[in-house]
Amino acid sequence: ATPVALLVGTGRGAQLGVLIKGPEVLENTRRVDTVVLDKTGTVTTGRMALVETVPADGVDADELLRLAGALEHAGEHPIAKAVAAAAAERFGPLPGVEGFANREGLGVEGVVDGHALVAGRPALLADWGLVLPGELVAALDRAEEAGRTAVAVAWDGEVRGVLVMSDTVKPTSAAAIAGLRDLGLTPVLLTGDNERAARSVAKAVGIDEVVAGVLPAGKVDAVKALQAQGKVVAMVGDGVNDAAALATADLGLAMGTGTDAAIEAADLTLVRGDLGAAVDAIRLSRATLRTIK
Ligand code: ADP
Ligand code: MG
Repeated sequence: ATPVALLVGTGRGAQLGVLIKGPEVLENTRRVDTVVLDKTGTVTTGRMALVETVPADGVDADELLRLAGALEHAGEHPIAKAVAAAAAERFGPLPGVEGFANREGLGVEGVVDGHALVAGRPALLADWGLVLPGELVAALDRAEEAGRTAVAVAWDGEVRGVLVMSDTVKPTSAAAIAGLRDLGLTPVLLTGDNERAARSVAKAVGIDEVVAGVLPAGKVDAVKALQAQGKVVAMVGDGVNDAAALATADLGLAMGTGTDAAIEAADLTLVRGDLGAAVDAIRLSRATLRTIK
């Protein structure tokens, strides 16, 4: 392969809205047979909206939203943005957070108005020895059954409520996934979110294989497991929690609308955050390499 011909390929990539780290990337692009797709922010818009606030018995719904909103104001996850935006809209400026910690793929922790707060998966709350009361387990189940993302909120040693978020599949995702299949590639949906929310998105866009409920390290393991089966794996993601998996994959593709961590870890950036550009990039690399043979 002559470097010049490959660079022409990368130039055309830029026109298509794809930035390629170096010409050598194209060779891997051509060999890919499996495409692992992150859910939130990659297949979906990642602009979540808070759709339900469920306080535990005896907890004030406003207090739940205000404290959770103040905590999540310091976060970057689509869940954090949804909760903080809903709280700010209702209450205006929110109190500050001390000792904020982002437990990647699990949730967030911090102190607001003297209350030690934690918001996230039930597994994170379990780290604090906290168990959801029956009525909140039921609310969380109902939300997940409906394909939504739900997080639990606790402060001062008690679980105080559940917040329910909805996300929307990007209008271009289903066509892009059909495009990947046309190229002979197998799509796999990979997410830290719950299995039911993942299945509902997978169904909407035409993906059969789903790996859900994984921690960021689990995303790396999922990619490695496919590679161990002899697959050549492309991974598409946008989050900090996707960076390690993007680096592990044979080809990492980052959403240009995503985090710097994802973009730095990837070989290729889809500038407009449109999955259709991934299909174009793979088609382009095959065409380019055919021209120079
Ligand atoms: P995804 O793979 O869909 O991008 P993540 O791995 O980032 O998901 O997150 C997995 C789960 O961790 C979320 O569904 C949520 O339960 C919890 N979580 C992550 N970040 C937060 C946050 N800022 N607030 C509350 N929960 C969170
Ligand atoms: Mg994501």
